[in-house]
Amino acid sequence: MTEVAEAPSAERADELKRIMHWIGGRSVESGSGRSGPVYNPAAGIQTGEVDFASAEEVDRAVQVAKEAFPAWRATSLSRKTEIFFRIRALVDQHREDIAKILTAEHGKVLSDAKGEVARGLEVIEFCCGIPELLKGGFTEQASTGIDVYSIRQPLGVCAGITPFNFPAMVPMWMWAPALACGNTFVLKPSEKDPSASIYAAELLKEAGVPDGVFNVVHGDKVAVDAILEHRDISAVSFVGSTPIARYVYETGTSRGKRVQALGGAKNHMIVLPDADIAMAADAAVSAGYGSAGERCMAVSMLVAVGDAGDELVAAIEERLPKVKVGDGMHPDSEMGPLVTREHRDKVASYIDKGREAGATVVTDGRESAPGGGGFFLGVTLLDDVKPEMDVYKDEIFGPVLGVTRVGTYDEAVRLVNENPYGNGVAIFTRDGGVARQFQFDVNVGMVGINVPIPVPVAYYSFGGWKNSLFGDLHVYGPEGIQFYTRGKVVTSRWPDPATSKVDLGFPQTR
Ligand code: NAD
Repeated sequence: MTEVAEAPSAERADELKRIMHWIGGRSVESGSGRSGPVYNPAAGIQTGEVDFASAEEVDRAVQVAKEAFPAWRATSLSRKTEIFFRIRALVDQHREDIAKILTAEHGKVLSDAKGEVARGLEVIEFCCGIPELLKGGFTEQASTGIDVYSIRQPLGVCAGITPFNFPAMVPMWMWAPALACGNTFVLKPSEKDPSASIYAAELLKEAGVPDGVFNVVHGDKVAVDAILEHRDISAVSFVGSTPIARYVYETGTSRGKRVQALGGAKNHMIVLPDADIAMAADAAVSAGYGSAGERCMAVSMLVAVGDAGDELVAAIEERLPKVKVGDGMHPDSEMGPLVTREHRDKVASYIDKGREAGATVVTDGRESAPGGGGFFLGVTLLDDVKPEMDVYKDEIFGPVLGVTRVGTYDEAVRLVNENPYGNGVAIFTRDGGVARQFQFDVNVGMVGINVPIPVPVAYYSFGGWKNSLFGDLHVYGPEGIQFYTRGKVVTSRWPDPATSKVDLGFPQTR
């Protein structure tokens, strides 16, 4: 049985909190008459109500951002850097408060929430180096008396649409480079856990970001569509599920916007027979069940090669009863609830689906879920999963780990390469040559070698292949800077009366 850290209690809920938009540097009440519930998933009760923006309210935020753009764009790099160092200090100072907001609305355990803030902070730190990142090139004397140089300039008003699973970090992936590059921003966070974005807005104001440079509108499809249709938005960054990512990419680009839309995932972890099985089992449990499997980089399918399967499954099974599932605020909890009751039920339904399709249910998370009203599901392990089963094909996005068994390395790589998703992948082996071949062979954007969750550090860029990303540029890191700027090349000559003459020929280098 999975150990239960603490049964959640309904009394822990606050009074219903209203979560409003943030436009022009202040909290703005919605007049749309539409709103949505925000829950404490550990208690299973509603704790807040978030305003949903109308198209007119989105327009208001965009107009404010548009008005703020010329002055922010013209703000010197040294002043922007100063502000970014202050943002960095404030986020660092308030890590704990932000993490508590995440745990309260998302459900992830506090230590995991702090990890999320820390990874977001790395992106802000990267952006503190914006003068270096925006350096252009200069060629002196490209032609006689003529110099050529390249510069990168901001796009204007950019928008971000973010998912529920990283309510602080994923917005930071977007607003930090967008603002550092001189753009203004409208964020539409997930309606399931919207408070962290408002907290960030308050910190940005305190750090000296001028009013109107960063705005938050809450809502659903209405707000997203208003962003996609808006003529004054130049670029849209999206992170969420694949069907919506595809929709956002197709709609946004057809309206002339630059779009990067990151989608869902089905991440494989290949375990070769020569792997350190204890290490692989630890990694599989950590990466499969961390954040209750609600990570786009979670491992959801283990591919056991050759005779690795039996030992691997036994090692994982042995570890599962020790995973402490409970309220994320409790210091002993290692895995919290799922984000909503609806999502928990959907994830749980895959256990029966798997069994009916012929998979072996090694551990059934329904049997070990803590009682009470929280949206809990215990850890689940399915063996003998086959690629044609729904539990293999679908992104379950919960604490359900599948194991499939194959005979050879080539079969394992084929499975990964034939999968429609291509976000993350890992291989566990002691053979450096095979690992090197794997990185060459595999059609996935982020690869781990004995590392189960290969989320790149902030000075590389994050992004998958295939249905895990629509668009050309990955988020944050150098590609994030490219995404939020466009290039300009200047060819320059200064008047020199000694060489000036009329010449109607096509300009040639001399
Ligand atoms: P989601 O697609 O349901 O929602 C993402 C955003 O889109 C939210 O802001 C939501 O309000 C909006 N949205 C939802 N339905 C919409 C519709 N019909 N029209 C327009 N907008 C709509 O995703 P989610 O459930 O919040 O997040 C989980 C998903 O995000 C998973 O698929 C996960 O893999 C993915 N994800 C991907 C990455 C990545 O980097 N590739 C990172 C985190 C999460």
